Amino acid sequence: MFVWPIRPIKAIKWIFVEFLFPWGFLFIGLAIFSWNVLTPEIDSSGPPSLGFMGKIWLKNVLLLGVLAGSLHWWLYSRKRQGDTFKFSHRWLSKKSTRFLWSNQTYDNVFWSIVSGVTVWSLFEGITLWAWISGVSPQATWPAHREYIVALTFVFFFVSSSHFYLIHRLLHWKPLYRSVHELHHRNVNTGPWSGISMHPVEHLLFFSMFFVWWLVPVHPVVIILTGFFKGLGPAVTHSGFDRVLVGGRQIPTGDWFHDLHHRHFETNYGNIEAPFDWAMNTWHNGSNEAQRAMVARRKLQSGASEGKPS
Ligand SMILES: [Zn+2]
Ligand SMILES: [Zn+2]
Repeated sequence: MFVWPIRPIKAIKWIFVEFLFPWGFLFIGLAIFSWNVLTPEIDSSGPPSLGFMGKIWLKNVLLLGVLAGSLHWWLYSRKRQGDTFKFSHRWLSKKSTRFLWSNQTYDNVFWSIVSGVTVWSLFEGITLWAWISGVSPQATWPAHREYIVALTFVFFFVSSSHFYLIHRLLHWKPLYRSVHELHHRNVNTGPWSGISMHPVEHLLFFSMFFVWWLVPVHPVVIILTGFFKGLGPAVTHSGFDRVLVGGRQIPTGDWFHDLHHRHFETNYGNIEAPFDWAMNTWHNGSNEAQRAMVARRKLQSGASEGKPS
């Protein structure tokens, strides 16, 4: 997408065939279904009710449970494809004191549901309520059809840019040690590691919802925000590049982000946002990128010790 001279046909093909297919389209479809069928009635005459927020939380717990639960069951409980397409040869930890109950999966499920889905649902609920109440700017269907379709696709790039910025902030030492370290306990990730984060990280991670308090939006895009940020990481942290189902290969893992879990100081963003490339923290998994990262680290440690670099 970012090559010069620009290659628009190739870029558009990459966005639709490789980047959004299948998960992006699945989340868009699920958001349309969720808005029309699963979202409870919203009463705009007062503040959002506890019952309304509870139903949103339950819906999100069920969806994350089905997605992360079935990926975990297929890949880790049943080990249906062994370590074919697995990024690491190690399996999820069952006896490390780094994790609650010394079990990585139990720990990840706890943080994902108790804190992750709660913050996600709270932000989704109040943003939907603000839209219905007319507190936030509205784009309505079909009056603003073209705008909503364009926003649906632009959203993915805005969200990735937001992720880069908050993630870079989370690697600031005081925040890393007290907050982000919890997500990084998962050097080797599984589907439940996706949104296994400290509550403060959840507040920052899901703050993307508040963009919709300023930018005109349709509720489908509000719900899509939750799915891309809340469900997407279950897929990208699956630990497997592909899932084999009935002889078909379904793309799942995110090698780019997996390298971030291994090396910490590379790949703060996603491949669809060029920040890592611009900030010289890009690691594509090659030996050359590995050597560049090691050289960068030496330079940084030399500089911090006051040595000539
Ligand atoms: Zn991660
Ligand atoms: Zn990180």
